[in-house]
Amino acid sequence: MDLVAQIAHNVTAVRERIAEAARRSGRGPDEVQLVAVTKYVGPAEVEALLAAGCRDFGESRPQALWDKVAALPARPARWHFIGHLQRNKVKRTLPHVTLLHAGDSQRLLEAVAETAQAEGRTAEVLLEVNISGEEAKHGLAPDEVAPLLPALARLAGVRIRGLMTMSRLGGTEDEAREDFARLRELRERLLTACPPEISLQELSMGMSGDFEAAIAEGATLVRIGSALFEGLT
Ligand SMILES: *Cc1c(COP(=O)(O)O)cnc(C)c1O
Repeated sequence: MDLVAQIAHNVTAVRERIAEAARRSGRGPDEVQLVAVTKYVGPAEVEALLAAGCRDFGESRPQALWDKVAALPARPARWHFIGHLQRNKVKRTLPHVTLLHAGDSQRLLEAVAETAQAEGRTAEVLLEVNISGEEAKHGLAPDEVAPLLPALARLAGVRIRGLMTMSRLGGTEDEAREDFARLRELRERLLTACPPEISLQELSMGMSGDFEAAIAEGATLVRIGSALFEGLT
């Protein structure tokens, strides 16, 4: 199969698995949004994903995002930033970003708020939670989130839309599901005292190896890369 046909085939297979996982947990397929992670590939693969109907794309490094945006002007793509964003890259990155998944510190969110306000817009942000507690990971500790919410609610220029996490590295499917359940439970606890300015509607969790477990625990956004590029030579 050529690139376009192979990617169309992979997108269909992934969409079917998403729909099936949603159905199994009594949810509609439309309740789970696919974010196609393009960090491993170039503009040609993004074009093939667009042709297959994908509109939401995820990048984890600023330079790669800037390069893709420059290579694909005027395409109907929405870009999600899913990696750690350094504050000195906010100004150049934010204008391209539909949803920032990795809000991982108050200082970053203050920088995002400042840039968004200067542009007269509101940035949509998820709070990244390091649910597995692994040292190498970015993200807020679960206990850090609640105390932050009042300050974040007052930040003009930023609108919190939900939470994001990754399951522990090298875990089994059951362990991944435990991690995702912990994010869902954290959301439930936070909702009991959540300022009205903050929404915790979205749960961004699940990658190629564990998105079905994430959907079973309530994921509304799954970030899938490698499964979309299988079979390419
Ligand atoms: C790379 C990446 C993904 C996609 O991973 P795959 O296993 O290739 O599906 C999802 N989320 C984040 C934060 C990533 O960095």
